[in-house]
Amino acid sequence: MPRFRAPRGTRDLLPTERAAFARLETIARDLAARYGYAEIDTPLFEESEVFERGVGALTDVVEKELFRVTATRGEEDERWALRPEATAGIVRAYVQHGLQALPQPVRVSLCGPMFRYDRPQAGRYREFWQWDVEAIGDPGPAVDAELIELGLRFYASSGLTGVAVHLNSIGDGECRPAYLERLQAYFGAHAEALAPAEKARLSVNPLRLLDSKDPDLAGLIAAAPRLVDHLCGPCADHLAAVQAHLAALGIEPHLEPTLVRGLDYYTRTAFEFYREGAMGQQQALGGGGRYDGLVELLGGKPTPGIGFALGLDRVVLALAEQGQAGSPPVGPTAVVVGADAADTMTRLQLATDLRAAGLAVRADLAARKLGRQLEGAARDGAHFAVIVGDELAHGQVQVRDLQAGTQRSANVADLARDLSRGQAGHRHG
Ligand code: AMP
Repeated sequence: MPRFRAPRGTRDLLPTERAAFARLETIARDLAARYGYAEIDTPLFEESEVFERGVGALTDVVEKELFRVTATRGEEDERWALRPEATAGIVRAYVQHGLQALPQPVRVSLCGPMFRYDRPQAGRYREFWQWDVEAIGDPGPAVDAELIELGLRFYASSGLTGVAVHLNSIGDGECRPAYLERLQAYFGAHAEALAPAEKARLSVNPLRLLDSKDPDLAGLIAAAPRLVDHLCGPCADHLAAVQAHLAALGIEPHLEPTLVRGLDYYTRTAFEFYREGAMGQQQALGGGGRYDGLVELLGGKPTPGIGFALGLDRVVLALAEQGQAGSPPVGPTAVVVGADAADTMTRLQLATDLRAAGLAVRADLAARKLGRQLEGAARDGAHFAVIVGDELAHGQVQVRDLQAGTQRSANVADLARDLSRGQAGHRHG
């Protein structure tokens, strides 16, 4: 057992798995660009209060899972928190940099690691990756549908099949308070069925009871009053309009009245992505919603907004379950090998020139026999081996096509063009 291991709940992404993440990131970046969402990055840590306010002090994410960090400098302790999600930091940046002065909405996209100090299990890590997209300054409902379609497009582009969107409205400041009272009264009348932690939730955050995974509560939750039945007129209209826009895009969401999302700042539209048939046993692949009060909570002018966060780890896992494992990184175009085992300098020089010309080339830098060097080139998945020998004095090398099994002389002066032509010919021919 090695002395040092990656911390619990984290894992190393070795090249094959990293390639699977990189592929998803490329899809995400390409989609963001096509849909007009510009890339943004925010720090991996913030003042804890950004999350306490922006996610909600009474949410699981902040109350139980916030990864708090204390840095000691001299006498002073500085307290930070690693970001558990991206929205609060992005909205903090939006307010800090006065982005409300830009044409609205501000559409941004961020790919990166998030941290939650949760109990690790399959598909649940302390460090995980999200693709996050936000449209700040648009009251909807059309943009709500645009984002949901974008999420589904991401899963489809990744090759994941059977992803469904679950949709709900969690109302707003007009209709939610009266509904919460109704919900408290309902669960209050069944208090004997609630565990102590659930009773505590009842008074501070009753909506979260709907989110409970406690099997003993399933019947009670199913019969609980539903917020969709108690929405105010504008919220009901908004939900209907989101559905109409989705229908125009050929998307039929599954209406899920108990979907509440774990974060406090949501208003109206809330959605999550699941693989069909996996609801319940399986965790969500991603989720999002509208947060019309969040910008103000973080010190800005009242500004509506909506966004989503898709968990990349769970997509990689789901793709593997579907039999689409990541592919190993592709081999170089060529490996430069040589008959004179000790002459690593010539091999390094030639590889450097070819790389400067834009090719993916490795030099064999071990002082070993030519046969071993060629074996290494084949193992790397290289298309060509460039063999350096005495004829280099006359500006010539041998080029062996490792895939076709053929060999020929080539001019060093023209080698970069020669190899890229050969590779393109192979790829297309
Ligand atoms: P949330 O905002 O909590 O709904 O998170 C959005 C998505 O991020 C989830 O649907 C998951 O795919 C992913 N996610 C959240 N927490 C974790 C975690 N601890 N480990 C892996 N993925 C996570």
